[in-house]
Amino acid sequence: MLKKNDIIRLVITSATAEGSGVGKTDDGIAVFVPLSAVGDELNVRILKVKKSYAFGKIEEIITPSEARIEPDCGCFSRCGGCVWRHISYEEECRLKSQKVTDALERIGGIKTELKPIIPSERVLRYRNKAQLPVGKAPGGSLQMGFYAFHSHRIIDCGDCALQPEVFAEVIRITRDFMAKTDNDIYDEKTGKGRLRHLYIRYGEITDELMVCYVVNGNGLKREDLLLEMLKSGLPNLKTVVVNSNREKTNVILGNKNRTLYGSGYITDVLCGLKFKISPFSFWQVNRAQAERLYEKAREYAALTGSETLLDLYCGTGTIGLTMAKDCKELIGVEIIEDAVCDAENNAAVNSICNARFMCSDAPKAASQLEREGVRPDVIILDPPRKGCGEELVRTIGKMNPDRVVYVSCDPATLARDLKYFSEIGYETKEVTPVDMFPRTAHVETVVLMIRAGL
Ligand code: SAH
Repeated sequence: MLKKNDIIRLVITSATAEGSGVGKTDDGIAVFVPLSAVGDELNVRILKVKKSYAFGKIEEIITPSEARIEPDCGCFSRCGGCVWRHISYEEECRLKSQKVTDALERIGGIKTELKPIIPSERVLRYRNKAQLPVGKAPGGSLQMGFYAFHSHRIIDCGDCALQPEVFAEVIRITRDFMAKTDNDIYDEKTGKGRLRHLYIRYGEITDELMVCYVVNGNGLKREDLLLEMLKSGLPNLKTVVVNSNREKTNVILGNKNRTLYGSGYITDVLCGLKFKISPFSFWQVNRAQAERLYEKAREYAALTGSETLLDLYCGTGTIGLTMAKDCKELIGVEIIEDAVCDAENNAAVNSICNARFMCSDAPKAASQLEREGVRPDVIILDPPRKGCGEELVRTIGKMNPDRVVYVSCDPATLARDLKYFSEIGYETKEVTPVDMFPRTAHVETVVLMIRAGL
């Protein structure tokens, strides 16, 4: 019987959906070992034993996996951001494809050969957004960085390898400003203190930088000095915003913004269209890779100019708008009102006149459109992690589109939904994983479904 603190010899044979390595004991007990690699032969210390599985940590690497590389970030293994800086990017892509294949087979009962994963051109510094929690170290000094895995302990990180270099400069200036003034640091436990988060966004194509301070209160002391420091240190600074969040909650942003400098937003470009990005707007964090994802979705939509296109879970309208010129009419549906306003603005800014947007729950909007007799030729779905669910799939069945393009950020709910689609006569034709978030275990998938008999 396995027990806590046992040291066992283990070969890692697979990875979980969250990125932890897994090996099996001779008795068939699965042992989850974070930071291991498939192919590692290890001595593992058992930390926790459950009925049919256990958790362990690496005590000694006896024979390293061939996929291992030297981690290139000092915060790796402490910070909760990356899970895979110790394996090659090729191996990471292999594991991500495997994750999609496994989910489709186990949950959806779908056996299909995936198209090769679309890797990210940039594995480093691909993010255009950072939300860094600010807190106090045990000695009282300022800490800013990332939460440790499954925790609210802040791991100090001055330059994250996934973020643009300019973010490190914003962090440095912010630390310097905090040291020069008597602004206090927010304490999650007591709900007291002022500065909660540093929030940064960057327009990669436009080279525009937004710096936003999330504050428990109306503002910071010496905002004049802060602005002076930011402006002199950051030539591409476009706007500075103070967001007020007085709630004792894990939600990062409060609902009030005050613009300290500039217009309160930045712009950037995606698939040739211009988009306005405010602190509240949803914007893909890996812009270049989002273009590849949208290209694949566009290929699957196969529009010819005469179609009605329904873009469900449209956010700020990006996917549909990049296809608007290829269809007759675009209808977008999104539940967040601000995002719908952004989508309408984005259509106007890009002189797109054949688009309309509805602020509604997607299943409700779909059922309303269906009752009104709207019959889209192509439907795009890009739901959050929980997927779109059976009710919406049934309504889509009644609308009877030729094609459904499903963009998913969670292979498990995707697999469940594809099964519902197969029950109403939609065949999964092609599945392409897209790596939007290198070094994390997240993987996006684009799926083309076609109505049976077409
Ligand atoms: N397609 C967009 C956004 C995808 S993220 C893009 O590529 O940029 C998923 C979106 O679904 C979010 O904007 C979220 O606000 C929205 N959403 C979540 N639940 C929803 C629901 N029940 N009905 C409609 N939209 C929803």
